[in-house]
Amino acid sequence: MALQPASLSRRRFLQTASAAGLLAALPLRAAQPAPAAPDAPASARRARNVIFLVADGMSAGAFTLADLYRRHLCGRRCHWAARLETGGLHNGLMDTASASSLVTDSAAASSAWGGGHRVANGSINLAADGTAIEPLLVKARRAGKAIGLVTSARLTHATPAGFLANVDSRASEDVIAVQFLERGLDVGLGGGLKHFSPKRRVDHRDITKEFSAAGHSIVLDRAALLAAPPGDERLLGLFADDHLPYRLDHRADPALSATVPTLSEMTTAALARLSARPAGFVLQVEGGRVDHAAHNNDAAALMLEMLDFDDAVAAALAFQQQNPDTLVVITADHGTADPGLIGNGHADTGLAQIASFRSSFERMAATLGTEPTLIELHEHLVAGTGLPLTIEEVAPVLAAMSGHGTATYKPDRGAAPTLAAVLESYLAIGWTSTDHTADFVGFTAIGPGAEAFPPLVRNDAVHNHLLVALGIGR
Ligand SMILES: [Zn+2]
Repeated sequence: MALQPASLSRRRFLQTASAAGLLAALPLRAAQPAPAAPDAPASARRARNVIFLVADGMSAGAFTLADLYRRHLCGRRCHWAARLETGGLHNGLMDTASASSLVTDSAAASSAWGGGHRVANGSINLAADGTAIEPLLVKARRAGKAIGLVTSARLTHATPAGFLANVDSRASEDVIAVQFLERGLDVGLGGGLKHFSPKRRVDHRDITKEFSAAGHSIVLDRAALLAAPPGDERLLGLFADDHLPYRLDHRADPALSATVPTLSEMTTAALARLSARPAGFVLQVEGGRVDHAAHNNDAAALMLEMLDFDDAVAAALAFQQQNPDTLVVITADHGTADPGLIGNGHADTGLAQIASFRSSFERMAATLGTEPTLIELHEHLVAGTGLPLTIEEVAPVLAAMSGHGTATYKPDRGAAPTLAAVLESYLAIGWTSTDHTADFVGFTAIGPGAEAFPPLVRNDAVHNHLLVALGIGR
């Protein structure tokens, strides 16, 4: 049964989580971040709204490349960098570790912001002793605020979940979908329909139907999203069974653009609904596939995901300008594979080559037959990249694929790093690995409460700064 959002008291939250077999009757601990953020002076302005934008896996190198690519395409900086140049905001770095590792994953990173505690990689808002940590959006809901999650990954993926869920494994996405329903998510837009569908869920519950019964309009493609009446304040939009397809893959399959909205369109749709609510809102927006493209060392896919994210940043900044009582945060959860433009002699022309790409590595792998010949692989990669690759250049890629049983460019068990190394002589983009990194990431805040963030902020300290800015108790 779906809970009415207004009834989601602290006691009810605990009951709900326990009923889902998650908390095992353990006490609910109030978030106590370390170090604690200073309380706001009485005269400080409160933030009515928070928009928290995260590009998953965006290292400083990915941000730099996106800015350079936007300048190549449009002759102007990306929106985030342009806003940084104007000043009048907080900008610094974030320390990204988790409780279990110097190198965090998305589940622990989002939990640090969402709950105020560092937790083990792979878990969502559960302390080491199993105690459930109340997430930010539950607190915001109790304070009367509307709550929203927007992502280009599955809606139940780790980063959105860190603001509203408690599970011991990020893989428990069927459970996370139920928690979103029971905890009163007002607007949820992204991919991951399979975790809401009775045909795909282990328990065969129809979660979209239950959202509808709870008062949500349900939209399943871009046209329906854009046509939905703005007066429908509660909205669930699921635009793919899994993650949304890479923006790059819209080049090879233009029909995708008719069915899959951009991150900016989803952000604008969410803001139109959440801002109509009387007590303000908290919205997380995730560029979820930045991380996936970086894991694959797929520079072209990464650039288009970064521009998609930057357009969502523009939508949020425009909203903030019209609604200055809004705190906007722009950051990343960790670096992934740390790409960089390198001085190999092609640096000034490399990014222009991205225009020739037609497919992500992921799509190229999916459309290549198993055990291709060298000639077949060569034709396939020339078609996918649009580059004049030679047979000699493609041969190491085939060698890297051999022994894996399937034609895959996935990291670590396939040929993605080898293909990326071949492309380095064209694109001038190098990579450190196919994994997450411990790098500090950029952290920008604009609006009421922005001035309180220190120049280097721990990820688990962000939570309390948001609570103080919103005037919500711990
Ligand atoms: Zn990742």
